Order: sequence, then C-alpha cells, then structure tokens
Amino acid sequence: MGNFSSLIAFSFLFLLKIYAKDFSDFDKYQGKLERKIIEEKIRTFLIKDGEAKNYFELKEDAFILYDREKREEYVLQLKKEESSSLEEKKRESLSGIKIAIDPGHFGGKYAKLEERYIEMDPLEVSISAQFDEGTLAYLTALHLKELLEKEGAIVLISKDGIGMGVHEQDFFDWLKENPHLWSSQLPLPTLFRKYFNPLDLKARAAKINAFNPDATVIIHFNAHHTEPDLSSNSYPTEANFNLVFVPGAFNGNELGEQENRYEFLRLVASQDLFQSKTLSQIILNSFSEILRIPVVKESDGAGYLSRLCLKVDEGIYARNLVMTRLVHGPLCYGETLIQNNFQESQILNEKDDSIAGIPCSSRLKEVASAYFLGLKFFFLSK
Ligand SMILES: [Zn+2]
Repeated sequence: MGNFSSLIAFSFLFLLKIYAKDFSDFDKYQGKLERKIIEEKIRTFLIKDGEAKNYFELKEDAFILYDREKREEYVLQLKKEESSSLEEKKRESLSGIKIAIDPGHFGGKYAKLEERYIEMDPLEVSISAQFDEGTLAYLTALHLKELLEKEGAIVLISKDGIGMGVHEQDFFDWLKENPHLWSSQLPLPTLFRKYFNPLDLKARAAKINAFNPDATVIIHFNAHHTEPDLSSNSYPTEANFNLVFVPGAFNGNELGEQENRYEFLRLVASQDLFQSKTLSQIILNSFSEILRIPVVKESDGAGYLSRLCLKVDEGIYARNLVMTRLVHGPLCYGETLIQNNFQESQILNEKDDSIAGIPCSSRLKEVASAYFLGLKFFFLSK
C-alpha cells in the first residue's frame, strides 16, 4: 500500500513537472514595467468580467498573480521611476523577417463536419454559391506567402494543405482511439468542433510558437446570421464588414487553468498586446482600402462582439480565442468579408483566377494583398 501511494505521489509530481508552466520565463520583466501601462492593458484588453479579477492584484509596486486557492503564483516587481517605454524596432525591408500564417479551419472534405461552408440553392434563395472557408483561407495564405517571400521574408504556413489540420492525428483516427466519444451519440460535427478542433488549434499555436515569428496573421472569412433560425451557410444577408481580433477579454473561469494564467501574465508583461493592436489596426485599415468593405458597426448586429469581446477600437476586439491566447508575439486575427452576403457570395464563388494552380476567385488575391500591405507597413513604417 505504501509503495502504491508513493508511486501515485511520484507520478503526480512527475506530471506536475511536465505540465506546470515555468513562470520564471517572466523574470526578465522584473523591475522593468510601469504600473500605469499594466493598468491600461487590464482595462482596455484583458478582463471581460469580474470573476477573472480574483486571480491577480495590481499593487503600487508589484503585480501579483494568484492561483485558484488565492496563493501567490508569481510576483512581478514594477518599475520605480517613470521613463519612456521600450522603442519598437523598425526595419528597412522585410528581408529575414519571420511571418507565421494560420489559415483557419480544415476546409475541403472536412468543411461540412466543421460547419464552415456556403451552399446556396438558387431554388430557395435565388442565388447560387458553393465554397468553403477553409479552402478560401488556405489559398489566401499561399498567395500571401508568395508576396512576402518575394520581399525576403521567411514564412511558415501552419498547415500543409486543404482538408488538413495540424494535430498529428486525422479526425477519424482520433475518434477510433476515443470510443467513449464515438459511442456518445453526439453528432459528428459536435465531436469535431467541440472535442477535436481544440486539439488542432493547440497544435497550430505550438507549431507557430516553435517557429518564433516576428508576427502572425490568422486568416478567417466571416459569416453572418440575420435570422436566428436561418443558417448562415445557406441564407444570404445584406451585411458585409471586416473586423479583427486581438488577445484579451478573459472571462470568469478562464483564469482557473494555470496554462491560461501563464498566457495572461505574458500579455500583462510583454509588448504583445500593444503590438498586436498596432498590427491589427494597420491590417484593418488595409482591408477597408483594398477590399472596399467597411469596418463592422453596432447596427450590423453581430451580438457576439458585445457578449464575448472587449471593444479596443472601431473594428478591433479583444477576444479570448485559443489562437489569440496561445500564439506568442504580435498577431492579427482577421475576419474579412461576410461570405454569405448577397454580392460577396457571388464574388467569392467566381473562378476567375487561380492560386497554386487551383481555380479560385480573384477576391482571394485582394485579401492576401491587404494582409501583405498591412504587414509591410507595420514593419517598415517609422
Ligand atoms: Zn473562421
């Protein structure tokens, strides 16, 4: 019995060592940060609701992170005297700059399972369209990579093709190894989106962080529900707009996990939030200009923005998505265009161009150019 319990204790310590986050990563910020900057980050970006406030305290001279039992997990001493903030380094060209691109979703054969597709039947809605978000995002990423590499950037696309993710196992292989889910009677799209996709998103973030990019763009195309019971997959809308997500907006339980508190402290201490805002602002301006579609407005009725996000600026929302939370460094999570908009669905449905030999809408090259010009301006402007 004694041996057994010490084995349990040993295994527990061993697991703790593997999974515990190393907060000494933040020692380099000791004594370097000003209180007012941290205060601004917490107010503008980081805390969506009250419960999350139990996990930290901003004192006169220190920022303290607490665990679930309200024990001090990390103490970050603040800077004593006022001084100018760290200068961002600007460059002469994109040569040698590392950019990660994450094209959202799987697309292709998984588009239906992940419920990210447009299929409009002319008999029902008088217009015809058939495409999927994962394919649009992947082709856009390929073109963006080409534009960046022409200027000397080093580019990583997180996934290797249409219909693919980054998690080491294919969905159906993974399902075979999880028979309790397979036999749970839950619909396949639910199993895919709720249980499998989070693993894939974590794998994407880990791959991007291992590449250690100077900036990351996460490419998505948006859809809009106009009537609650009409699916945005097959019913058109008048709305068309762009928006971007940056990290933040932690809600109640989201700081209960140590892994999340690690990322929270990183956002408190590092320049990632302000740089993500700057990058996202520039890319959003580029969307408006190149795509000729406005930034989202209150009247568009995208209710999730007020429910889940903190509004940082017009069209810029802090949102605690897996990718905004786990990807390190400056990032822009773009949600361009409404795929089920009457006109936009027709433009995206065109095959008037091609990327890597795959027929597609020339609109995708415009979206890629918008990201490209935004990234370029971010790195090269004074
Ligand atoms: Zn998406």
